Amino acid sequence: MQKILITFTSLLLVNCGSNPPADTNYALVLPSARVETRQTSSGAGLDVPTQVVVLGTGTPIPDAFRAGPSIAVIHNGESYLFDVGAGAVRQATIARYKYDIPSLYPSEICCLFLTHLHSDHTLDLSELAHTLWWRRSSSLKIWGPQGIDRIGDGLLDLIAADAQFRINGVQPVANPNGYKVRQENLQTGIVLKKDDLVIEAFLVNHGDINPAFGFKITTDDLSIVISGDTAYSELVAEKAEGVDLLFHEVISLEGLERNSPGFQRYHNSVHTTSEELARLANIAQPKKLVLYHGLFYGTEESTVLDEIKALYNGEVVLASDLDKFPID
Ligand SMILES: [Zn+2]
Ligand SMILES: [Zn+2]
Repeated sequence: MQKILITFTSLLLVNCGSNPPADTNYALVLPSARVETRQTSSGAGLDVPTQVVVLGTGTPIPDAFRAGPSIAVIHNGESYLFDVGAGAVRQATIARYKYDIPSLYPSEICCLFLTHLHSDHTLDLSELAHTLWWRRSSSLKIWGPQGIDRIGDGLLDLIAADAQFRINGVQPVANPNGYKVRQENLQTGIVLKKDDLVIEAFLVNHGDINPAFGFKITTDDLSIVISGDTAYSELVAEKAEGVDLLFHEVISLEGLERNSPGFQRYHNSVHTTSEELARLANIAQPKKLVLYHGLFYGTEESTVLDEIKALYNGEVVLASDLDKFPID
C-alpha cells in the first residue's frame, strides 16, 4: 500500500510564538486517500472503552499548530463531535488513522453538538457535512443553539449545485440524501441517551452571546465536561464535580494584560482567566483538568499552565491537537 509521510518540519521553521511541546511527535505515517463506508452501524468498537480525541484546541486566531476548537467523544463505534472549528475535520482524518478509529472518518461522523454559534466553533461545518456526502451512511445530525435552522438552510444552499451535478449526472450516488443535515434546536437537559451514553447540555455564561452551552457526557466508564466558551460559571463547577475529564477554555492573565482596554473588557465578560479557572478547579476537583481554546496573546503557552498551577494542586494539562484521553 502506498504510504505518505507527513512531517511538520517546514512549519517549525516558520512558527513564531506558539511553540508545540518539545516532545511532540509531528511525524505520522498515514495511508493515501482511501474511500471508507459502513453499510450498517458497525459492531466494531463496542468493546472499546470511551475515548476522547481533541481534534482542535485553537481559537479564532489562525495557528499553524492548532485547528479550531473541536472535541470528539468516541463510544460504542460512533463519534460525537463537540464544536467543529476550522481544520477540525482534517484532524479527524488524521486521528482516524493515527488511532485506528473508523467512526472518525469524516463521512462516518454521525453527530455534532455546537456549544454556541461563534464562527471559530462552526467554520468546518460544511467540511463535516459535505465531505463525501454521497457515501454517507446517514446524514449528519446537528444539535445547536437558536440560529441553527438558518445554518442548516445555508448549508443546503451551499451544496445545492454540487448535489444537483452529482445526483443528476453519471456519478453513482450511494445516498442521494447524504448532503441534507438534520438540525435540532438545543435545549438544556438530556439531549441524547443511547445505551449507557448520556449527553446533557447546560447553560454557560458567554456574556452577550446567548444562549451558549456546555456539555456533560457520561458513559459507563468515563465522565466528561466540556465548557465551550464561557466566563467563570458556577454551573460548570457544579457539573464538573469529580469528573474524569474537564475540558475548559482559558485566557492567560499575562496575555490578557497585553490587550487593549476594550478587548480586556470583552474577554473578561466572555472568557475564563487562568486565575478564575484555578478557583473553579479547586471547587470542582476534576480528576484531570484539560485546557483547550487557550488565548495566549504572545505569551509562552506554558505561562497559562504556570498561572493555574500556582493556585491549583490538581492534575492539569494543556492539550495539543490530536491528544487522546484517557492517556494509555
Ligand atoms: Zn465564543
Ligand atoms: Zn471560541
